[in-house]
Amino acid sequence: MTNYLIVGAGLFGATFAYEAAKRGHQVKVIEKRNHIAGNIYTKEVHGIQVHQFGAHIFHTSNKEVWDYVQQFAEFNRYTNAPVANYNGEIYNLPFNMNTFNKLWGVVTPQEAMAKIEEQKAVLGGKEPENLEEQAISLIGTDIYEKLIKGYTEKQWGRKATELPAFIIKRLPVRLTYDNNYFNDLYQGIPMGGYTQIVEKMLGHENITVETGVDFFDKKDQYLAEFDKVVFTGMIDQFFNYELGELEYRSLRFETEILDEDNYQGNAVVNYTDAETPYTRIIEHKHFEYGKGEKGKTVITREYPADWQRGDEPYYPVNNERNNEMYQAYKAYAAKNASNVIFGGRLGQYKYYNMDQVIAAALEIVREEFKG
Ligand code: UDP
Repeated sequence: MTNYLIVGAGLFGATFAYEAAKRGHQVKVIEKRNHIAGNIYTKEVHGIQVHQFGAHIFHTSNKEVWDYVQQFAEFNRYTNAPVANYNGEIYNLPFNMNTFNKLWGVVTPQEAMAKIEEQKAVLGGKEPENLEEQAISLIGTDIYEKLIKGYTEKQWGRKATELPAFIIKRLPVRLTYDNNYFNDLYQGIPMGGYTQIVEKMLGHENITVETGVDFFDKKDQYLAEFDKVVFTGMIDQFFNYELGELEYRSLRFETEILDEDNYQGNAVVNYTDAETPYTRIIEHKHFEYGKGEKGKTVITREYPADWQRGDEPYYPVNNERNNEMYQAYKAYAAKNASNVIFGGRLGQYKYYNMDQVIAAALEIVREEFKG
């Protein structure tokens, strides 16, 4: 039997911990924050599950992952259909016939396609090389200007021409009147919040959990003491930035409790102009169809922020420079830290969604335990 130390009580660490514990291994989990569940942490306020670190909507086409999470929570039928507010004009997201109709008055898919074709001509048939060109080639210049440019440049703190194209490919473009933000087969929100999922995973009798503990206070001691370490923090920090600093993007959340029933009529409203300092407001009760105390609602404004050492790293910035540096760290880790498994958004420096985190953890579980 192996003694595992898991650094970080987020979804990756908890999935690995649970699977190791189930196989009879001893697992200790340490977590820097004073709570478990990482960024999927939710907390009840006035009967409303408040997503403490931004909107988390579970969606996947991976049946194994979907079946897997059902063990830990029952999911509702929530379908994400955010709206964009551009200087007071409201548009449906993702980009679909409702959006095209409101913007151009077009009614049929053929009319919408013709409009997009006409607008993307500014690219002169060039292969898109950055987010701006990718966006224009997908949906034309009007939508790029109103719904993408401002939002994206706020979100990432740099010009859309300096961002990788793949980021915008996360969003569907549809020639149907369908406001579902995701194309995935399965989607929902765990009734009663996300924290219970991690609580159940870490509730196994072979697992002990300590919160408020920083791995870096006793790194060498931990590495000597445990047979294996699963590290879900920043891979560059693990190696004391020896090969350079990876870049991250941070966020700041402002949460307010309001004495009203319904503030914005939707769970997610994106503010896509460049001037509004936040990117979106979420109204938590709408993730669970208005559940919660009457006369109360909780909203959170999400402000993008530059990241510096010591800040919370929410997003990896997957441009060429950083991806190359990550690959160097990965090779370095294989050589110099062979008893450490790196996982999750920060350990693998990937813009993972929750389902991809679970899939990645299960993949590593299969490798580690040979099945
Ligand atoms: N995006 C945009 N306008 C929007 C929503 C998203 O331009 O109203 C772009 C933006 O560049 C963002 C990317 O699409 O970073 C991915 O959006 P997603 O909603 O997947 O971001 P997340 O929820 O992970 O922050």
